Amino acid sequence: MKLLLFFVPMVAALWVFFDSQKHGYSIGKGLLWAIGVFFAMIVFLPLYLVARRRKPQTSPFPSSRQDSPPTACFYCGRPYEGSPKLCPHCGQNLKF
Ligand SMILES: [Zn+2]
Repeated sequence: MKLLLFFVPMVAALWVFFDSQKHGYSIGKGLLWAIGVFFAMIVFLPLYLVARRRKPQTSPFPSSRQDSPPTACFYCGRPYEGSPKLCPHCGQNLKF
């Protein structure tokens, strides 16, 4: 039974880590969330779900549209093609 106390937060932490990667978080941030969930799941799991929803979705289904429209830069609002590391217009870091 004690194994379960270790296993459940472990699975939750792993899920949070991979889910955060899918939602465009950096590896460091995903790890922080995973560690938080592992040690205090009751606190961090709801917190993560709330924080995640506020994050603008980085098109989870890029091939669902026939012609993918250019993405608008988060900082300057000008469109760019593909997923460059830096905005070609203002040079801001587009990877969080
Ligand atoms: Zn920009």
